[in-house]
Amino acid sequence: MTNRILAEQQETRRPRAAIFQKCQKFTRARELIEAGIYPYFHTVESAQEPEVVCDGRPMIMMSSNNYLGLTSHPKVKEAAIDAVRRYGTGCAGSRFLNGTLSIHEELEQQLSQFLHKEAAIVFPTGFQANLGAISALVGKQDVIAIDKLNHASIFDGCRLSFGQIRKYKHNDMTDLERILRGSDGRAGFVVVDGVFSMEGDVADLPGIVELCRRYGAGLMVDDAHGIGVLGRDGRGTAEHFGLEDEVDVIMGTYSKSLATIGGCLAADADVIDYLKHHARALIFSASLPPAPVAAALAALRIIENEPERRERLWRNANYLRDGFRGLGFDTGVSETPVVPVMVGDEEKVLYTWRRLFDRGVFASPVLYPAVPPGMALIRTSCMATHTVEHLDLVLDVFAQVGREMGLIN
Ligand code: PMP
Repeated sequence: MTNRILAEQQETRRPRAAIFQKCQKFTRARELIEAGIYPYFHTVESAQEPEVVCDGRPMIMMSSNNYLGLTSHPKVKEAAIDAVRRYGTGCAGSRFLNGTLSIHEELEQQLSQFLHKEAAIVFPTGFQANLGAISALVGKQDVIAIDKLNHASIFDGCRLSFGQIRKYKHNDMTDLERILRGSDGRAGFVVVDGVFSMEGDVADLPGIVELCRRYGAGLMVDDAHGIGVLGRDGRGTAEHFGLEDEVDVIMGTYSKSLATIGGCLAADADVIDYLKHHARALIFSASLPPAPVAAALAALRIIENEPERRERLWRNANYLRDGFRGLGFDTGVSETPVVPVMVGDEEKVLYTWRRLFDRGVFASPVLYPAVPPGMALIRTSCMATHTVEHLDLVLDVFAQVGREMGLIN
């Protein structure tokens, strides 16, 4: 549409309702596009593999949460296709009413076994699992303590609950204790990411468990980035620390290692039963379609049977992190396959991103509010299916761009 037609349309348009004025005033995205540093919604035209085609160009994907590389695994794809053949494309209703299929129940049984919990419940997404669990469990009189760097869905779950929300400094047990000590006998609930999704560090679960025990608080771990990645058998952060019995609720997503979409909660049977009947994000939303349920089931089987994928993932993660550090980059507190490169300034991150992108490396700029103000970073994440050649190329491009941007000498 030409500018003249647009201008004419705007002139003849009825006045905008006040509610939309903020949309008219929102120019940031357009400004970034004009400056050539808009990093969002770029079109990937191929599967989430180490090499992708993006905006028509081949690139190395360093931004995917497909940690084990299972989104293109033939068994996972076949399982999804078979499920569509048998059950069709959707459930057309909530789990609560018509939308519970036999494969939902099979996945719940497999997940509860895998996560060493009595029961599990499948959600349409991980985001909804957090919204549903927190808003259903936390009442007006309850105190919920959350790490300041937890995922947005935990913050939103807290907003939907009527509880007293208290944030503690990132992984700071003294600050968490201050909150739990001050909760004056009210029921306490600690909710924490197992692996922090932008920083790539791991929650101090032993410290948290100790405090929860001392102050009688419940504990929920969002293990979106831990399942399939941490622990000897890939059961996540609780397994990594040998604390599976101490975590009351494990939340998981299938949008990362499990190679599809969907979420879950695993806990004692009475807790799951309560959530099945009180979590509004479950009850009032359509159930997860057959294809992702079957894909998650197949991915879970592969996680159990092919531990070498997890080993390859860790070899890659350590190689990349050591490579960055060797070049002089600041990778912060990363200790997992999530490896950030700290930049600080937002504009600088966007120009760094652009130069990486132009040289064929697809990494993600992460700005406020996903990280605290002034702590902008480039997030990279490894897959088991990256080769050393991919990672060497990425390190090479980062070295060139890092020098140009003054991030390293
Ligand atoms: N928790 C964390 C820590 C996450 O990183 C994400 C996804 N980015 C979610 C929850 C939400 O999961 P989903 O993608 O399944 O909605």
